[in-house]
Amino acid sequence: MISTNASPELLTTETLRQYARAVPHDPVCWPLMSRLGLEVLVRRDDLVHPALPGNKFYKLHHNLHHAHQEGYTRVVSFGGAHSNHLHALAAAGHLYGFATHGLVRGERPRQLSPTLQDVQALGMTLHFVPRSLYREGAEAVLAQLRNQYGALHVVPEGGANALGSLGAQEIARALEQQLQSAYDAVCVACGTGATLAGIASALPEDKIALGFSVLKGEGGLGAQVASYTDAGNWRLISGFHGGGYGRRLKPNLHQFWHRFEGDSGLMLDPVYTLKMFWGIEQLALRGYWPRGSRLVAIHTGGIQGRRGFHNQAPAMASEAGATNNNKYHYG
Ligand SMILES: *Cc1c(COP(=O)(O)O)cnc(C)c1O
Repeated sequence: MISTNASPELLTTETLRQYARAVPHDPVCWPLMSRLGLEVLVRRDDLVHPALPGNKFYKLHHNLHHAHQEGYTRVVSFGGAHSNHLHALAAAGHLYGFATHGLVRGERPRQLSPTLQDVQALGMTLHFVPRSLYREGAEAVLAQLRNQYGALHVVPEGGANALGSLGAQEIARALEQQLQSAYDAVCVACGTGATLAGIASALPEDKIALGFSVLKGEGGLGAQVASYTDAGNWRLISGFHGGGYGRRLKPNLHQFWHRFEGDSGLMLDPVYTLKMFWGIEQLALRGYWPRGSRLVAIHTGGIQGRRGFHNQAPAMASEAGATNNNKYHYG
């Protein structure tokens, strides 16, 4: 039985677009790129919503509308201990009045990660799923949850589905409206590719979307992107995964992280945006773009995930007493 007594105050799509159009495109101080005659703007989607930053803001939008339209008041999804997706889902549940459940890979640890502490504080109920079960889609666990709690709407891991991709279109729509075609390419970090697909779908056909894969074995990622979009104006860039999702960064990536944050005053997350910016620099060094090109790099958020890399991350802007940007936040 589906309960219909919740009244989530979801944003309308028009309001979501207003948020998207308010996101700044800031020039990045990046000496190496300047020497190569390349200009980079960063689209600050890490600032799109104070409680729900990054691309997950867009990817969850239609998924939650869909859940609401179908009468669900309870939403469940999946992720790891540092998951930006679970973090965003918990924040959205708290904002919009859904009960949320998170299925987390692995055994319950003695000490919850900062991400999982946050999501619990936001009201998400956590269920730890052994890896063997998790690989099978955790169906048995979902069935058990339905027995216990009643109807549950399942959002795929990462919000990766057609509705997630549809939401991500708003990133490109806003970007184009704001920049009026004064750019050559749009760069974004890719996990599932749903965000890349959405961006490519909504960009003008003569603008290309470049997806920097953060996964080591990304076989099948191209097909996945193509399953979300008919557009042809996208490319996957691989080779800059830095070892994959792993928690230990290679020395060159680690050095880049510190140099880039020092120069730009931007804060990156180590899993996604760090690898995109590193990849952009590597491509530039190989002469991938002609001098005079203007690139837009999407900051897809994920700053909360830095806490899982605490001993490797550069000192945070606030810790270092920097004044260039105090808008960063974990939530
Ligand atoms: C989830 C996430 C991505 C990847 O988005 P996909 O749509 O899965 O490709 C990129 N950057 C950040 C910060 C993310 O949290």
